Formats: sequence, structure tokens, C-alpha cells
Amino acid sequence: MSAPTSETQPGLVEVHGVHKSFGTLEVLHDVSLTVEPGSVTVILGPSGSGKSTLLRAINHLEKVDQGFIALDGELIGYVRKGRTLRELSEREILRQRTQIGFVFQSFNLFPHLTALENVVEAPVSAQRRRREDVEPEARELLARVGLADKADVRPRQLSGGQQQRVAIARALALRPTVLLFDEPTSALDPELVGEVLEVIKDVARTGTTLVVVTHEIGFAREVADTVVFMDAGVVVEQGPPDQVLDAPQHERTRSFLQKVL
Ligand code: ADP
Ligand code: MG
Repeated sequence: MSAPTSETQPGLVEVHGVHKSFGTLEVLHDVSLTVEPGSVTVILGPSGSGKSTLLRAINHLEKVDQGFIALDGELIGYVRKGRTLRELSEREILRQRTQIGFVFQSFNLFPHLTALENVVEAPVSAQRRRREDVEPEARELLARVGLADKADVRPRQLSGGQQQRVAIARALALRPTVLLFDEPTSALDPELVGEVLEVIKDVARTGTTLVVVTHEIGFAREVADTVVFMDAGVVVEQGPPDQVLDAPQHERTRSFLQKVL
């Protein structure tokens, strides 16, 4: 009998048997998934199903109660010492976190900084890189998201779509191993959704590993290698988009898709 691929060939992100509760509410129940290097994983599911908690756990913003998450072979939040685990120090967590880019629904740009300064900030302060080296790269990233001419503008002078594109440039500036998006277009007016999805597609084409929580089924169909459907803290099913979106095996997936399509 051959072992499953996820055991013989570890993915870039490995979520294994993760449980997480807030008080008596179990928000993640035995969640496992594997994200292959260079792949795009789209996570779908109703509100409250645990999608954000899962992304936050990958990004050290939540501690899991059981199970583990590994990034590129390193445990998130822990280091193995022989047969025991030691919790990482604050400093080690910061270093590990800079390998992960996170794009939030609400952009979360620094309001007092220009677009360029927003992109330059983390590589300089968290990765201790030289401002002179980072700045030309930051300008290139702004150009890549179509905002070369907005470098010196503050967030409030930008549309929501433009702010989110700056947030994507800022996440890319860390040269992350994986980029996580939590409903990146949910806060946008409908006419601005397309420009942000185009930028994410462009990032996907460059081979960056992406995990995207979104309700944009068209995007999932076009870009995802794997679609994961979550409901009530469990992964109900996962697989290639044509399987999960067009031939879902579970009633819960079918009824969710009927609502969002
Ligand atoms: P989703 O992103 O799929 O909408 P979330 O992961 O945000 O779901 O939330 C899952 C459940 O966990 C919800 O019931 C939410 O209210 C609850 N929850 C999330 N964060 C906390 C928290 N810090 N404390 C208590 N409950 C929380
Ligand atoms: Mg959420």
C-alpha cells in the first residue's frame, strides 16, 4: 500500500488535524489540508465556518489547540527539539511571520504613510533590509499592481480597489513563501472587484503560492488548483475546481454553491 502524497512529499503549507475552540465553541474541527508549492488554493464556505480562523492560525494570529501547521517543513509557532516541541520566542515568531504575506478584507494600510512608504515599511522594519535596496523594489511592485503614479499618495486619496492593490504590493515586498488573502474583495464596491482579482491572478501566474478565502466562484474556477469547501469548522470536501464546483459530493457544498452562484 502506498502512502498518500501529502505524507511522502510534504506541501509548502501542511495543516494537520487542527482543532481550535473559542470557549465552548469549536471553530475548527480536525482540519487538514496540503498546499503545494506554486499552487492556488481557494477556500469557500459560509460566514462563520472558520475560514479566517484557519488563515489566522497559519499566520500566528491564533494558536491551535490540537494538531499542527507547518510552513516549508517548519512548524508554525514551535520548533522540534528531539522528541519534544518548544514554543518559539516572540523574536523567532516574527522571523517566521515575515515568510507569510497576509492581505485583509479591510486593506489595513497605514493611513499616515504614502503608498510607497506602506510598501517599504515591513521589509525595512521586520526584515532589517536597507531602505535604499527596498525602495526601487517597492516602486516596481507598485508598477506591477498598476499604481506607479500613486507612489506618493496617502491611502485616503485612493479608491478601495487601489488601496487593496497597495496592500498586495506591500505583502509581496516581504518576498513571502506564501501569500494569504482573507476575502480581499468583500469590502469593495462591485465595480472595483475586477481590478483586484486581476492583480491576484497576475501574482498567481508568477508562481507565488496563494491561499485565497473568497466568495468569487468565477475566480476560483479560473485560477484555483484546489478548492476547499468548509462548513461549521470542518473541511467538507476539497479537490480541483471542476470536481468541487461542478460535481460536489456533499449536499452542504451543493446548497452553498446554489446560494452564491
Ligand atoms: P469565517 O471567516 O468563515 O466567517 P471565522 O473564522 O471568522 O469564520 O469565525 C468562526 C467562528 O468563530 C464564528 O462563530 C466566530 O464568531 C467565532 N470567532 C472568531 N474569532 C473569535 C474570537 N476571537 N473569540 C470568539 N469567537 C470567535
Ligand atoms: Mg472570515
